[in-house]
Amino acid sequence: MIELAHIFKAYGTHRALNDLSLKIGEKETVCLIGKMGSGKSTLLKCLAGLVQPDSGEIIFKNGKRPRMGMIFQHFNLFPHMDVLHNLTLAPMKVLGLSAKEAEQTAMEQLESVGLASKCRMFPHELSEGQQQRLAIARSLVMKPEVLLLDEPLSALDPMAVGEVTDVLRKLKKEMTLVMNTHKLDIAAELADKVVFLDRGHVCEEGSAEQVLVSPCNEATRRFLSYMKDLYYTIESAHFDRPELNARIEQYCNRFGLGSQAYRFVQLAVEESLNIVPLDNGVHVKLSKAEHEVRMVLEIAAADAGVPYLDENSCCDELSKSILQGLCDVLEERVELNLRVLHMELDQDRLLLK
Ligand code: ADP
Ligand code: MG
Repeated sequence: MIELAHIFKAYGTHRALNDLSLKIGEKETVCLIGKMGSGKSTLLKCLAGLVQPDSGEIIFKNGKRPRMGMIFQHFNLFPHMDVLHNLTLAPMKVLGLSAKEAEQTAMEQLESVGLASKCRMFPHELSEGQQQRLAIARSLVMKPEVLLLDEPLSALDPMAVGEVTDVLRKLKKEMTLVMNTHKLDIAAELADKVVFLDRGHVCEEGSAEQVLVSPCNEATRRFLSYMKDLYYTIESAHFDRPELNARIEQYCNRFGLGSQAYRFVQLAVEESLNIVPLDNGVHVKLSKAEHEVRMVLEIAAADAGVPYLDENSCCDELSKSILQGLCDVLEERVELNLRVLHMELDQDRLLLK
């Protein structure tokens, strides 16, 4: 239905899209994944006609651009208008509907995203999930055939992610969706096609199963393992602790862990770093099983032949005993030239809200 052929787009000397080709079928749900800066948003803007490619072609079926709507991470609602008027403005101005017709269409779409009872409220009175659903309804009143969604789930708390995903699940049967997201579990559920972008180029595409479970491309594999686990390298004892803590919070957020749970993970990391010498560099790795409570923390440093947990050599007995209380499993092993502290974090605490 839509074909992008050899699209190039540069900002100054930087190539945001570099010979990008992609086909999007009618009513297909396409999820774009890739690192920050890989060109996902630029691709959506080219489709929307907000950005002109430098070269290449966008070919539409029958030569006519389908009606498109675009949804952004930060809703972009009209703050001074109530819910209903957020939805009636464009249909009246652009489609020339009467106020009555526009209101009728608006109410239908509010109904479909579950917001009919909120029609007299203002955007700031709505929860995040409701605001994003309102933004979607505002696109729907224009009767799009294609909905472009740029990180529609990224600014949302876990409950809101669920609400918006629920709406997308329904929409995917009715129209073409092209969505850029970091939420791989949701991409796996919704996508008919997953497209991995790397430096402005389609590196790999296929079914969710193919790309997310058994990718053929090395770059895709690296991206997926980067997304799955948190890696952090500490150069010395003077490393940036707030940054590490923020990364842990962000990582835990991805799995919808509560604030008490991520503070517990931060505490476990902090205590574990007290019993490992930091001076020669330390690697921190957190991994969480997707649909289980299990979370594994590993701290690895060059092996100096001194055990971390041994009674006689442990550099901080207090931290060790705190850590024992925080973990279901606490053990160490030597792997090649690294000494690894392996912990399975207490599952009850991971469930805290
Ligand atoms: P993604 O959405 O995958 O993070 P983008 O499409 O936003 O990537 O950006 C791709 C590259 O193009 C990035 O390196 C970004 O800095 C650059 N870029 C995007 N928009 C602009 C712009 N308006 N001006 C200059 N550079 C831009
Ligand atoms: Mg982007």
